[in-house]
Amino acid sequence: MNNKIFNATTCVHAGEHRDAQGAIHTPLYNHSTFAFSSTEAIVDVVRGAKPGNLYTRYGMNPTIRATEEKLASIEGAESALAFSSGMAAEAALFLAYCIPGDHILCLGDVYGGTFELLDVNLRKLGIETDFLLGSELEQLAGRVSERTRILFCETPTNPNIEVFDVAALSSFCHERGIILVVDNTFASSVNQQPLQLGADLVIHSATKYLGGHSDLTAGAVMGAESLVVPLWQWRKNLGQMIAPEVAFLLARSIKTLICRVEAQNDSASRIAHFLQSHPRVSLVNYPGLPDHPQHALACRQMRGFGGMLSFNYDGDGQQTSAMVDKLRIFSIAPSLGGVESLVTQPVTTTHFGMPVDERRRRNISDQLVRLSIGLEHPDDLIADLSQALG
Ligand code: PLP
Repeated sequence: MNNKIFNATTCVHAGEHRDAQGAIHTPLYNHSTFAFSSTEAIVDVVRGAKPGNLYTRYGMNPTIRATEEKLASIEGAESALAFSSGMAAEAALFLAYCIPGDHILCLGDVYGGTFELLDVNLRKLGIETDFLLGSELEQLAGRVSERTRILFCETPTNPNIEVFDVAALSSFCHERGIILVVDNTFASSVNQQPLQLGADLVIHSATKYLGGHSDLTAGAVMGAESLVVPLWQWRKNLGQMIAPEVAFLLARSIKTLICRVEAQNDSASRIAHFLQSHPRVSLVNYPGLPDHPQHALACRQMRGFGGMLSFNYDGDGQQTSAMVDKLRIFSIAPSLGGVESLVTQPVTTTHFGMPVDERRRRNISDQLVRLSIGLEHPDDLIADLSQALG
């Protein structure tokens, strides 16, 4: 990865602007509106003739703008918009680009909320959505049409940790005028830069690694300005704006993003190897393992393999829950990417709402356990898993 695009200096300094008091970083402007010296001055800003702050729901707030500069910088993007959640970012993106009759193809596993948004909410609006599994990738060309506007995928995916070839998908999409959108939440900007690989837009649940401390809910969309701008009006009129306090917290968290994610990569890798050698574990999904089906691709495409992994426990659903209940350092919770390690059976949380047949089709079994590795000492995490697995 090109360090000129993104490194620890970017994380600390991008988007930071000192105020007249010399505050060391951009202050929290916790204001809903901004005052002007004259009608002429406000009209200049309203009609876009001059830059300025106006109204926070529009995003015209210095704290939000500074955070968006940082978000754009860490993805090597020209532009970024911050949202009140990852789902808000996804909804604005789909609504900005699709009208009734248009088609969105969703590739591979996705977060259950994304599945529901596509499968239920967007269908109600007459937008056609279709789901192609990673194992059906050879059908890709037959599953798009001239009405396909967006190809959407996560990589690595939630919860089976599959990896998709972003460069190959981007060539496929660009030959057909399709917008490639990659949800980069699981990898984080540290481990993977989809825009540099040819994706058109990246979305994040910034609630996860970018926020990093399980204390905020936010989303982001990054890409070329011409592609990001159409989302602005949807965000404004659906009221999906990130709050200034949250934008401030998010910018604070991104300063330590690289340190956190690199430590999480290392711990997750150790834990994946430990689980792979455990007799009660039948399958470990982690792209850093040499026998992961897309390991070679992950080595090419990712700088680190991430802090997320999943595994199948050798037992039924109830026995799996009993094992999960024995964990002491891992907390039973949905979400991911924070400093605290989390464990969940996706069927009980993130994919609870997914129809059972669809879960079966996707190998999201009752025995599947997903781990989000935090910043505790890896020896302690391994000891905790060891006592619970028995
Ligand atoms: N994308 C992924 C991969 C997720 O895991 C989630 C939530 O878990 C989302 C998007 C939605 O993000 P949020 O909860 O911030 O709305």
